[in-house]
Parts: sequence; C-alpha cells; structure tokens
Amino acid sequence: MTEVPAPSAQRTAVVTGAARGIGAAVAVRLAADGHRVAVLDLHEEDTAGTVEAINTSGGTAVGVGADVSDAAAVDAAVSRIAGELGAPTILVNNAGILRDNLLFKMTETDWDAVLGVHLRGAFLMSRAVQVHQVREKWGRIVNLSSTSALGNRGQANYAAAKAGLQGFTKTLAIELGRYNVTVNAVAPGFIETDMTRATAERIGVPFEDFVRHTAAEIPVGRAGTPADIAAAASFFIREEASFVSGQVLYAAGGPKG
Ligand code: NAP
Repeated sequence: MTEVPAPSAQRTAVVTGAARGIGAAVAVRLAADGHRVAVLDLHEEDTAGTVEAINTSGGTAVGVGADVSDAAAVDAAVSRIAGELGAPTILVNNAGILRDNLLFKMTETDWDAVLGVHLRGAFLMSRAVQVHQVREKWGRIVNLSSTSALGNRGQANYAAAKAGLQGFTKTLAIELGRYNVTVNAVAPGFIETDMTRATAERIGVPFEDFVRHTAAEIPVGRAGTPADIAAAASFFIREEASFVSGQVLYAAGGPKG
C-alpha cells in the first residue's frame, strides 16, 4: 500500500540572489511551503520587496546583504541567519551574473567575475551552511545550473561555471549523503527575468521579440517563468525527495542534457 508522505517540517532556508527573478520566486515558494526564509542578495535594501511579499502573506522572512563571493561576508551572513531564524539547513545557490562575450573578446575580469559569483559563491555558501546541516543531520542544497552548461555561444565563462556547478552538485551529494543532506541542481532553459531582458538589450532586440522568437523553439511553446523553477526547487527540498540526490533537472520546456 502506498503511504501518504508526512508534511515537511518547518526549516530555515537561505536563498541567494533572492531580491528578484528566480531567487525571489524560490524564496516566496519556500515560504509558502512553510519554511522561514533568509532572502540574501548583494544589498540588503534590495531584498525589501521579497521580504515584504513573504511577511504580508503570513510567512517569516529576513533580508540579508552579502556578496556570495566574499568568504568573510558569507560567514557573517550565515551566522546572522542562524541567530535570527535558526540553523539554516536549506540552501538555494541562485545568485548569478552574466558577462557574455566571444572568447577572443572576453577579459580576465569578466571570466573571474562570473566564476566568482556562480562557482566560488556556491562553494562558500555551501561550506558555511553544511556546518548546520551536519549538526542537524538534515539538509537540502539546490544549485542553479543552466542549459548553457551544454554549451552556448558567447558564454564561455557562464557555461564553464554552470557545468562546474553540476560536478560540484554530484560531489557534495556523495560527501554529505551520510548526514541526510541531499544536493541537486535545477538547470533552467529560457526564463523571463531581468537577466534575459539584459541579454536582449545587449544584442539589440526588443525583449518581447526575443521572448517570442525563443519560445517558438521550445517544445511546450512558451518561455519559462520564475515560478516554474521555484516548483522544481521545491520538489528537491521536500521531505519525500530524500532519496533523490546528485541529480540535475533540466527545466526547459523540452528535453535537454
Ligand atoms: P537576475 O534576475 O539577474 O537575478 C540575480 C540576482 O543575483 C540579483 O538580485 C543580483 O543582485 C544577485 N547577485 C548577483 N551577484 C551577487 C553576489 N555576488 N552576491 C549576492 N547576490 C548576487 O537573474 P535570474 O534570471 O533570476 O537568474 C537566477 C539564477 O538562475 C542565476 O544563477 C542564473 O544564472 C540562473 N539561470 C537563469 C536563467 C534565465 O533564463 N533567467 C536560465 C538558466 C539559469 P544585483 O541585482 O544587485 O546584481
């Protein structure tokens, strides 16, 4: 007979880059799932909208400012979150930037910036949060990869970071499994956010045309939304997903990977 899973316990979640876009949707979704949420972004004041959206719908959220690529800032942020909301045992590594260019025009600064936020940031945040996960003998880490991990013109830095996050995900799943910590990745396809709006601007195409043109290539016939990605992250974080670890879920409206 199939057992109905027990509802998930309330935990403390940290979502990076949660001032807007996918991170904001993930933060709101995890709050709706019953968790306390630390809404982390570069500048604390930018988190006010997400924090208010959660708190006014009966959830519990605090805004935290930190650069995820700065080890001291990350450690201070995670300590503050543990003090204010309780041990953070859910981490969504979502903060990200783009510095697109063809290889021959890509500067070292643009390479380092992208690897710094996506890869080093995920490493520093995970290292700080795993202390609490190991102590609590329970945890969830969800990393934001991308279909760009499979290769994308003009994104050597971003593709390397997003492919790197997949190896990082699988390795942490092996190391942390014994502590009841699962580690998975969501790899979105095209999602309508400020990030894709900036890409349209850079290539000089009106955003609406960019979305329409991209959606025509997607099997389900539409662009993705931040809520689509929040739903995928929410699945990995559920109690009943405890046997799913080290996986990369392409959420792209069609087959990828
Ligand atoms: P977004 O709208 O640009 O939001 C990214 C957020 O991350 C911003 O609030 C940004 O803050 C913050 N951030 C940047 N650097 C940071 C740092 N060093 N420390 C802390 N926060 C930082 O991006 P998005 O489209 O929602 O994307 C979210 C994640 O999904 C990224 O990892 C992205 O690579 C991935 N993804 C997106 C798509 C897509 O189509 N949109 C597809 C695949 C994967 P500021 O505003 O201050 O810069």
